[in-house]
Amino acid sequence: MKTIGVIGLGNMGRGMALSLQRGGFEVVGTDASATTRATLAAEGVPVVDSIKDVVAKSDAIVLSLPTAAIVAQVVAGADGLLSHPKAGVLVIETSTSHPDTTRQLAAQLASVGMSLIDAPVSGGPKGALAGTMTMVIGGSDEDVARAEPVLMAMSAKRVHVGGVGAGHVAKIANNLLCAAHLAIAGEVTRLAEKAGVPTERLLSGVNAGSGRSFVTEFNFPTWVSSGKFDSGFTMKLMRKDVRLSQELIGALDIDLPLSRKVADLWAVSAETIADDEDFNRIVELGAARTKA
Ligand code: NAD
Repeated sequence: MKTIGVIGLGNMGRGMALSLQRGGFEVVGTDASATTRATLAAEGVPVVDSIKDVVAKSDAIVLSLPTAAIVAQVVAGADGLLSHPKAGVLVIETSTSHPDTTRQLAAQLASVGMSLIDAPVSGGPKGALAGTMTMVIGGSDEDVARAEPVLMAMSAKRVHVGGVGAGHVAKIANNLLCAAHLAIAGEVTRLAEKAGVPTERLLSGVNAGSGRSFVTEFNFPTWVSSGKFDSGFTMKLMRKDVRLSQELIGALDIDLPLSRKVADLWAVSAETIADDEDFNRIVELGAARTKA
């Protein structure tokens, strides 16, 4: 693995491209946005205008794209990866996407001698830039071993959870938990404030007890109580992830009532919290109705 293509150079893909360069790989990137391509070129990342050119130069290709539909378009759509088959190329799918889409695309790629692993990520744009993300990985042992040097340049923790698609199942479960934890943490801080306990004091207590979560230990001090709301992960993307969880639950035909409530709440949030707001803003949902 010498040259790594990166398709999707947004908040996450940009950091991954720069981390891969720092890790000693040749990198070639592309993005649908000419402005983003120009930004990355100015930062020293070689960019090309087409997927065809990425495939021609790459031994492995990292995808960092917004939705499953866009991933499908980039792999199997007109002028996508499958239109330019190159045997032996390994696709590393880091977007948060639907496991069924992932498995279908992996099968299509396999038919032309290419392979795919899913390695969705946590850690935000800062983690992508520092090469310290966490990845939950789905793929064959052989492909995951082949990808290891590339994954190491982008991540500090990697957990291989199963075959192709398993990484996306684990990522959807992780983000559903995070979405639920954030919503309930927002509610309990308002409850405590109203009952006379300031948020900071409340969180000191909770974080010493069994109700703590990554949200109470990390998201609150870093992005909520600080007032910064600058995680780099948007409401739009988290709403997508919560919707993905509902699609997966629906496809499996199981009844998960609390998950449904969480999904309803995130869907309703679109009426008051804009798509490009930080995802931590969900803690404010309903706050306007809480009387001082
Ligand atoms: P982003 O919107 O900042 O970046 C996505 C990039 O893909 C954009 O630059 C866009 O122009 C490009 N793109 C869209 N369609 C394209 C196409 N057809 N061909 C080439 N490029 C195309 O999103 P992001 O925050 O970087 O997230 C990327 C993925 O990583 C998403 O699936 C997201 O859910 C996931 N993720 C994000 C974070 C985070 O903190 N931002 C954390 C973990 C996972």
